[in-house]
Amino acid sequence: MAVEWYHFKCQERMVEENVEMTYLEVTSPVEALKCPKCGAVYLTEETVTQKVNNAEEMLEYK
Ligand SMILES: [Zn+2]
Repeated sequence: MAVEWYHFKCQERMVEENVEMTYLEVTSPVEALKCPKCGAVYLTEETVTQKVNNAEEMLEYK
Protein backbone atom coordinates (compact mmCIF):
# COMPACT_ATOMS: atom_id res chain seq x y z
CA MET A 1 0.00 0.00 0.00
CA ALA A 2 1.98 2.96 -1.27
CA VAL A 3 -0.76 5.50 -0.84
CA GLU A 4 -0.24 8.06 1.90
CA TRP A 5 -3.24 8.85 4.01
CA TYR A 6 -3.78 12.04 5.91
CA HIS A 7 -6.24 12.58 8.70
CA PHE A 8 -8.35 15.41 7.33
CA LYS A 9 -9.00 16.76 10.81
CA CYS A 10 -5.41 16.97 12.07
CA GLN A 11 -3.56 17.20 8.76
CA GLU A 12 -1.26 14.48 10.09
CA ARG A 13 0.06 11.62 8.00
CA MET A 14 -1.51 8.41 9.25
CA VAL A 15 0.69 5.43 10.07
CA GLU A 16 -0.05 1.76 9.53
CA GLU A 17 -0.70 -0.18 12.68
CA ASN A 18 -2.17 -3.53 13.58
CA VAL A 19 -5.42 -3.36 15.51
CA GLU A 20 -7.72 -6.05 16.82
CA MET A 21 -10.90 -6.30 14.84
CA THR A 22 -13.89 -8.46 15.56
CA TYR A 23 -16.17 -9.66 12.82
CA LEU A 24 -18.72 -12.44 13.19
CA GLU A 25 -17.17 -13.37 16.57
CA VAL A 26 -13.76 -13.79 15.01
CA THR A 27 -11.11 -11.49 16.44
CA SER A 28 -7.87 -11.03 14.56
CA PRO A 29 -5.27 -8.32 14.03
CA VAL A 30 -5.71 -6.30 10.89
CA GLU A 31 -3.73 -3.50 9.31
CA ALA A 32 -5.28 -0.15 9.96
CA LEU A 33 -4.30 3.47 9.65
CA LYS A 34 -3.79 5.42 12.82
CA CYS A 35 -3.44 9.15 13.31
CA PRO A 36 -0.42 9.69 15.60
CA LYS A 37 -1.82 12.96 16.82
CA CYS A 38 -5.34 12.14 17.99
CA GLY A 39 -5.21 8.33 17.88
CA ALA A 40 -8.11 7.91 15.48
CA VAL A 41 -8.04 4.53 13.72
CA TYR A 42 -9.36 3.90 10.25
CA LEU A 43 -9.63 0.61 8.45
CA THR A 44 -9.05 0.81 4.76
CA GLU A 45 -11.80 -0.46 2.53
CA GLU A 46 -9.38 -2.99 1.11
CA THR A 47 -8.55 -4.37 4.55
CA VAL A 48 -12.21 -4.66 5.53
CA THR A 49 -13.12 -6.48 2.34
CA GLN A 50 -10.28 -8.97 2.68
CA LYS A 51 -11.01 -9.59 6.35
CA VAL A 52 -14.71 -10.13 5.80
CA ASN A 53 -13.97 -12.65 3.06
CA ASN A 54 -11.49 -14.48 5.28
CA ALA A 55 -13.91 -14.60 8.19
CA GLU A 56 -16.67 -15.98 6.02
CA GLU A 57 -14.38 -18.68 4.70
CA MET A 58 -13.38 -19.63 8.24
CA LEU A 59 -17.00 -19.96 9.31
CA GLU A 60 -17.96 -22.04 6.29
CA TYR A 61 -15.04 -24.37 6.94
CA LYS A 62 -16.48 -25.53 10.30
ZN1 LIG B 1 -6.12 12.98 13.89
